[in-house]
Amino acid sequence: MSDCLFCKIANGEIPTNFLYEDDLVVAFPDINPLTPTHVLVVPKKHYENITDNVPAETLAAIAHAVKVVTEQTGIDKTGFRCITNTGDDGGQSVHHLHVHVLGGRKLDPNAG
Ligand code: C5P
Repeated sequence: MSDCLFCKIANGEIPTNFLYEDDLVVAFPDINPLTPTHVLVVPKKHYENITDNVPAETLAAIAHAVKVVTEQTGIDKTGFRCITNTGDDGGQSVHHLHVHVLGGRKLDPNAG
């Protein structure tokens, strides 16, 4: 989608420091971090959200990117949370599928 912010980030139109990149996904720090570590994992192809018929290989690539970035940042040892906000009630503001990887401090287990 030509006017999609995360399409522009993922295709390099908006220069971004990627923590991880492969053929299907990129990962980069959230511009407005909610936790000491806050990374977004974003498929290169545009999907509106997690229910948008995302191919299994892309879902696997997202999971692999989560593993890589949590190891890079050390939060694989301490724990972290993955969320994908979906739709208005879910608080989604960028309508291109992305997974928030949050960690680096104790998270509220009852948040939400
Ligand atoms: O789940 P939601 O759609 O609200 O998340 C969008 C996220 O994208 C926000 O956490 C916001 O800080 C992040 N963002 C970013 N870089 C931008 C614009 C938004 O990291 N240029």
